[in-house]
Amino acid sequence: MTTIAFIGLGNMGGPMAANLAKAGHGVRAFDLSQAALAKAVEAGCAKAGTASEAVDGADIIVSMLPAGAHVKAVYMNEGGVIDVAKKGALFIDSSTIDVDSARTVIKAATAKGFEMVDAPVSGGVAAATAGTLTFMVGGEQASFERAKPFLEKMGKNIFHAGAAGNGQVAKIANNMLLGISMIATCEAFNLAERLGLDAETFFKISSTASGQCWSMTSYCPAPGPVPNAPSNRDYQPGFAAAMMLKDMRLAQEAAHKAKAATPLGAQAEALYALMEAAGKDNLDFSGVMKLIKGSL
Ligand code: NAD
Repeated sequence: MTTIAFIGLGNMGGPMAANLAKAGHGVRAFDLSQAALAKAVEAGCAKAGTASEAVDGADIIVSMLPAGAHVKAVYMNEGGVIDVAKKGALFIDSSTIDVDSARTVIKAATAKGFEMVDAPVSGGVAAATAGTLTFMVGGEQASFERAKPFLEKMGKNIFHAGAAGNGQVAKIANNMLLGISMIATCEAFNLAERLGLDAETFFKISSTASGQCWSMTSYCPAPGPVPNAPSNRDYQPGFAAAMMLKDMRLAQEAAHKAKAATPLGAQAEALYALMEAAGKDNLDFSGVMKLIKGSL
């Protein structure tokens, strides 16, 4: 039986660890939060008192943490994962973090002879619970092949995006596109409405014309046309604007370093930041419609 250490049992990590346990793996779980830890134990994981207790002797280490600083600390601090893990262990970090931190940690791990991939996910808590996440994986081909059977216990689509850090690149580039296309969709529906064209009729036309995009057809920010979209429940998430803003900021940070021009990404970040400033970033990101309408 493969022993897996799972560090970070929050909204996403909790159900992901539960799916690994359900698949028959021995999962040793650790989180700073006792409440998160207790839930994981209920779901069949074994409780570890510290991260190093979870990691000691484990074959695979999976982490699902908030940001780059947490990932760096958990892996690279004295007595962290890199110091404690047994020879030959494989590390999988599924957190969404900045590209530089991902590459720094993988470099430090491989320098000590470990295999490591960055494997951020797309899909929210529902997909984490159902085991249907999409994984975007960066790292060596052999490490990807080794990680894949475990990722398949937590997800449905597993992509190798290339070298270390490229999983994070795929994730932020995709989410920057989504963040922009959602705002564009809001503008189009608002313009149509202001000019006397109702959302249902505009949807019927535009969803089969050249303006068609995922933000419109699967997640329409105007109430009505897509019944299960958050717009029909006053923009309760879903995917919170705060999460989108985090990803937009990561995209801008990476774009500046790479000298990639992303003028619309910058503008989109500014608009989601206005939702944050208004204390409304707990709404779904499609709630940016309220900002466009002037009703936030
Ligand atoms: P969360 O805040 O619910 O969970 C993070 C967990 O990490 C918390 O339980 C916290 O106690 C724990 N933690 C922090 N530092 C730790 C440490 N040093 N040691 C052990 N545990 C520690 O966040 P989440 O929603 O589960 O998101 C996790 C990651 O997944 C983030 O990077 C997020 O951007 C990404 N993500 C989230 C979603 C989503 O819909 N929630 C979707 C895709 C990706």
